[in-house]
Amino acid sequence: MHRQRKAKILATVGPASSSPEMLRKLLLAGVDTFRLNFSHGTHEDHAKVHAAIRALETEVNRPIGILQDLQGPKIRVGKIEGDKISVQAGEMLRFVQTSAEGGKDAIPLPHPEIFAVISPGDDLLIDDGRVRVRVRGILTDELTAEVITGGIISNRKGVNLPGTILDVSPLTAKDRADLEFGLALGMDWVALSFVQKPGDLIEARALIGDRAGLVAKIEKPSALDHIDAIIALTDAVMIARGDLGVEIPHWEVPGRQKELIRACRLAVKPVIVATQMLDSMVAAPTPTRAEASDVATAIYDGADAVMLSAESASGDYPVETVTMMDRIIQSTEGHKLYRSIIAASQSSEVQSPPHAIAGAAADLAESIHCPAIVAFTSSGTTAARIARKRPSVAIMAITPHINVARRLCLMWGIHSVVSQDIHTYEEMVTEASRQVLAENFATRGQCVVVVAGIPFAQAGTTNNLRVVQC
Ligand code: PGA
Ligand code: MN
Repeated sequence: MHRQRKAKILATVGPASSSPEMLRKLLLAGVDTFRLNFSHGTHEDHAKVHAAIRALETEVNRPIGILQDLQGPKIRVGKIEGDKISVQAGEMLRFVQTSAEGGKDAIPLPHPEIFAVISPGDDLLIDDGRVRVRVRGILTDELTAEVITGGIISNRKGVNLPGTILDVSPLTAKDRADLEFGLALGMDWVALSFVQKPGDLIEARALIGDRAGLVAKIEKPSALDHIDAIIALTDAVMIARGDLGVEIPHWEVPGRQKELIRACRLAVKPVIVATQMLDSMVAAPTPTRAEASDVATAIYDGADAVMLSAESASGDYPVETVTMMDRIIQSTEGHKLYRSIIAASQSSEVQSPPHAIAGAAADLAESIHCPAIVAFTSSGTTAARIARKRPSVAIMAITPHINVARRLCLMWGIHSVVSQDIHTYEEMVTEASRQVLAENFATRGQCVVVVAGIPFAQAGTTNNLRVVQC
């Protein structure tokens, strides 16, 4: 089984997709990596889904990625008397730092970290920005705020504070417990929500080590302010447009998306475009024209992966949505302008032998019309460097490590396979030929380009390029 496209699909699992049968259908429709969203569900639910995906992996004999998404320091109002209140522009509200339930004159906001940093003039955005209030007065554990944009405030709705850096760890007590649970199960990626500063990644890395790849979710303006350091410290980036689009104006999101994709590609870090991609398919069998265009834009921008949230987690048409996404990607990548657009967004990079060899492999394969490039990789970086060049031919990554093969399921254009350790140059040539034939990337007699680091099994040494006839 190999995909007829380069960009990958990351789909969130939820009530609409957690049964083994649905996971199987979604995989066959095109999902490369599944996201387990720890903002919802019990450990027991997640463990079942995890086991079902691993069983599926054995059944189809292909690595499948699993990403654990930690909730992070999500801020919410507390319990509202009568479930919801309606507020109008100009009205003054009082927010109180309490875990008790309350109404308009004492809206519960059980987050001391907010009261520690907030000042008059700051805005609180409630329920994905639907309601906006501006802080007018502050006491130790209460504040008054004027409603700027009215609407409904209901129980436990999310609150965003754009432009404010909260003195909180990106890992709450719940996240730490979820993380330990996830790592014990075996996650390929762990995504950190509401990253604010480079130190957040250092803190997470200290807990995770090399047990999983780290994904920094970019959804705060402060993360954008430190983006180079954040990209340097993370293993992958998610452009989390849901919260980002609340924290910064809508009209700035598309440009940020392009910037972030380019920066990640330059740094050889996979980048995911997330949220509302085919949102209307939560309730309809077809997307809007604008949504189809949004997926295509992410592909033209050069994203490694595009993500589905509610569409696959709780929507009425999970399989149709994945199928639609797969078709949009294939069609975009097959369009006559795709290659020139993707080539134009290639940033000039610092040259070093490993990068130059990856680039040469891509050029060589294209110029002598090889159907595939084979990368022997122990950490995955050799394959990632080739993918960064966005070659038109297939990239097969051969690794002795299943966890590396699974992580590569998020990266542009890489088809990963697990094989036993390679010790000699002859073994490398034989194994490359055997694997491309077995996976139908070439037919006997065709040539493929093989890239490796010698000595084998030593990460980070891409130093060898060879043309092998199968
Ligand atoms: P979430 O993250 O779905 O966990 O909120 C993605 C986003 O904010 O876009
Ligand atoms: Mn988010």
